[in-house]
Amino acid sequence: MREPTDRYSDALLNVVRALLRGDPAAATTAMSAIAFESKHMPGGHRPSLRQLAEISERDHYQCRYCGIRTINSTVLALLSWAFPTELPVHPNWRADATHPVYLLQFATNDHVVPVARGRHPRDPDNLVTACWPCNAAKADLPLEVLRGWRLRTTSEADESWHGLADLHDALGRELGEPAVTGVAKQWLTLNQQRYGRPSPTRPGGGTPH
Ligand SMILES: [Zn+2]
Repeated sequence: MREPTDRYSDALLNVVRALLRGDPAAATTAMSAIAFESKHMPGGHRPSLRQLAEISERDHYQCRYCGIRTINSTVLALLSWAFPTELPVHPNWRADATHPVYLLQFATNDHVVPVARGRHPRDPDNLVTACWPCNAAKADLPLEVLRGWRLRTTSEADESWHGLADLHDALGRELGEPAVTGVAKQWLTLNQQRYGRPSPTRPGGGTPH
């Protein structure tokens, strides 16, 4: 299990100390050590949703850094649609209006070696499943500098877990197939293609002949 990291604390302490002693140049230098690096990728190099779905299934929807079982983003949104009070989500994940499952187990994908350090954005060997906390904590750093972190192998994962993506189609039908558009619709199609669209088995559901 990865250790928590507080690498920004000392850096920001140095920034504040420099400002308080009237040395803005030193503050700028201290701030540059942790300056934000955008993860923005030119559109043509961005991994497709299909590739990200493949990576997620390859990793059995488990975070390659901490091993937690993550949940497909669109299935989570569907469950929030069905249970808006019990499983709320705010469009901007406002903490007082969003269930903790989003902050803890939302499935994301991460570049192990940051793209800014020269790796191709679509290199599958460099793309992994990550939980939201690990993705946010790792930020733009390589694993080597993060104490206690390692890349788990795919064979360490629980093969029976698919992030609930395998139940996406069945759940949507059970909930009356709410209209979906955009990325949610793309996810539904990808999950139907990957995990199939099983015949109705419920009594009276009827089976195609
Ligand atoms: Zn994690």
